[in-house]
Amino acid sequence: MRRDTTGDFHSLLVMVQMYFSLLLTDKDTDMRLCKHCRKAFIASRKGNEFCSPQCKNQFNVYKSREKKKGDKRND
Ligand SMILES: [Zn+2]
Repeated sequence: MRRDTTGDFHSLLVMVQMYFSLLLTDKDTDMRLCKHCRKAFIASRKGNEFCSPQCKNQFNVYKSREKKKGDKRND
């Protein structure tokens, strides 16, 4: 175990959390993580879960593909 590496990672996490909490205190912005690519983005509408329509489409494509695979395996 390399403790110093873990420490660096933790302090980075703390920094990211601070950055997010700063953004979140600003009432005009709604900071979210994209459900598909995990990128941070500003949600223009409430309930927006994706950074772009492309991500939304891709997420739905992957979801339906996985469903189809699961159906075939049940064979
Ligand atoms: Zn995205």
